[in-house]
Amino acid sequence: MSILEQNDEIKVFPCPACRKTISSKASRCKYCETPISDDVKTAAIEAEEQENRRIDSEFHRNIMLIGTAITFVGAGLLGVSIVNVYSGRGGFFIWSPIITLVGIGQVIYGLVGMRKAKRRK
Ligand SMILES: [Zn+2]
Repeated sequence: MSILEQNDEIKVFPCPACRKTISSKASRCKYCETPISDDVKTAAIEAEEQENRRIDSEFHRNIMLIGTAITFVGAGLLGVSIVNVYSGRGGFFIWSPIITLVGIGQVIYGLVGMRKAKRRK
């Protein structure tokens, strides 16, 4: 089954000739009048979706990496806070567990998004 028949939703993709965004329902580009065959549409839509998946995956990977950095910072501060409290040298940095949790949350959000992006067809 071709990608064009998979679902009824109208997909958009850049015209191979002029790069303007056109709909998969059109048989020719409404801007430059280039005829668009089903093969061209399929290839263009697949390329577009692959690109979207790549961007989506990258976006979530960045969130995951930032989350990892935040987790390390939070855990480091938390460690220092615990040492401070036990040694009596300083106070507990109240934000450190929250920063750690935010970091872990971002890592999970990023990983889930990456898995979804890879699985999506
Ligand atoms: Zn065009």
